[in-house]
Amino acid sequence: MTDKITVAGVAVDTRHWIGGERVASAGTFTDVSPIDGGVIGEIARGTATEAAAAVAAAKAAFPAWAATPRAERARLLHAVADGVEKRIEELAIVETTDNGALLRSHRRGVMPRVAHNFRFFADWLLSLEHEDFDTRGHTNHVDWDPAGPSVLITPWNAPLMLSTWKIAPALAAGNTVVLKPAEWTPLTASLLADIAAEAGLPAGVLNIVQGYGSEIGDALTSDPDVRRISFTGSVPTAKRISASAAANLTPLSLELGGKSPLLVFADADLDLAVDLAVEQYDNAGQVCLAATRILVEESIAEEFTRRFTEKAAGIVQGDPRDEATDIGPNIHPRQLDKIDGFVRRAVEAGARAVIGGHPKDGQYYAPTLLTDVAQDSEIVQEEVFGPVLTLQTFTTEDEAVRLANDTRFGLAATVATGDKQRAGRVTAQLVAGTVWVNCFFVRDLQAPFGGSRHSGVGREGGNWSFDFYCDLKNTVTAPKGWKDHG
Ligand code: NAD
Repeated sequence: MTDKITVAGVAVDTRHWIGGERVASAGTFTDVSPIDGGVIGEIARGTATEAAAAVAAAKAAFPAWAATPRAERARLLHAVADGVEKRIEELAIVETTDNGALLRSHRRGVMPRVAHNFRFFADWLLSLEHEDFDTRGHTNHVDWDPAGPSVLITPWNAPLMLSTWKIAPALAAGNTVVLKPAEWTPLTASLLADIAAEAGLPAGVLNIVQGYGSEIGDALTSDPDVRRISFTGSVPTAKRISASAAANLTPLSLELGGKSPLLVFADADLDLAVDLAVEQYDNAGQVCLAATRILVEESIAEEFTRRFTEKAAGIVQGDPRDEATDIGPNIHPRQLDKIDGFVRRAVEAGARAVIGGHPKDGQYYAPTLLTDVAQDSEIVQEEVFGPVLTLQTFTTEDEAVRLANDTRFGLAATVATGDKQRAGRVTAQLVAGTVWVNCFFVRDLQAPFGGSRHSGVGREGGNWSFDFYCDLKNTVTAPKGWKDHG
């Protein structure tokens, strides 16, 4: 195994980052680019040994980091953000090579947002305050005490964005971190280790272990020294992690999958509604929040479908490094097979592909819209995580809400309507962590983010992140009992 590989001209260390040092493993796994299936390199394949070493490093570094004044922790997080901003081009091309998402999005949206994650939580830390309050003359004072070493486990669809959205609040709160990135996208996490070291983050505050979740995950999530586990990924993995964490009652935050609806009412701005619908193919459908179930009022369904088909025909699918590309490849041949399996079974069950419905050359899947789907069918109920949307119709507002809420998920929902009263009535009834009205994907880090039902446990963002990563402590002080020391 070589310690460093060059990815699109950028040197990337293939080893773990534990206690401020690079650590190799006896074994490796092969990282492959979804763009052309080419081998990127061999990456350290962590085992329980490296997991234990990383947690031990996080535990050793915790007391000093927790005791570091807030202003100094905030300064260091801003220094990490500076480092990210200096390396946006490198981070963008490495991430695109690794996960196939658009280079232009990484450059202009995602990587600046990674830096913002650090700045936002650094600044929020400094403003964090509970007002003292009185109980029969006694003073209540609430502190956010750092909880301890935190294990963060993240998926491949937005690797550095999703990891830093956990790393930044965990570190700001005074916790130390062990990150386990997804095995399909290990690279930008390694670059972040370099950036954090250059920024002066003390050794052991941020640790990164690479490897397969099935091989290293359990050792991380069952370690009794771990005080928090924050996970973003699929429901089956979340269940395994929850069972593993149960032995130590380790608090969990779970950000999981979705099957979100887009409700289009006849009174909506139809061009806007069509734009919102076609936007759901972004990142080749590999977006947890994607509104993959389009519910359209019957009276406009034909016109909506016609305009949607016209607009979708203009989607440029291809190399994610090209400026003109709208949709890149899917992450892995296994994911492509999974997507195609869902579509085939849906068609066998009677669905009709209005557009797409098949894989294309390489690791691409044609943007697909399926109609004639039953509410209780697999394609309507299960997350595909590919560019596959379903279209159903409704005739009344009640029916729209009933269909929208009728899955086991509850991550997000989008409503397109020109009627403010209707928007109020409908959004009040939707079960979802985030509801957008006549817009999509507008996110503010101070807002609570998370899912209901099988889409997750807990919320992140602003105070909610600090509530999760801290042990909140209320100190009640009586007005009497003080000795007079003169
Ligand atoms: P996944 O559950 O297969 O893997 C996620 C991570 O868990 C990876 O790092 C993997 O190595 C690790 N893992 C696997 N088995 C483990 C185990 N036994 N113990 C510990 N860790 C283990 O999910 P994925 O395929 O990488 O990601 C796609 C899923 O993530 C989709 O369901 C998507 O909706 C969801 N997602 C949710 C959000 C959100 O914010 N709600 C955001 C992005 C993605």
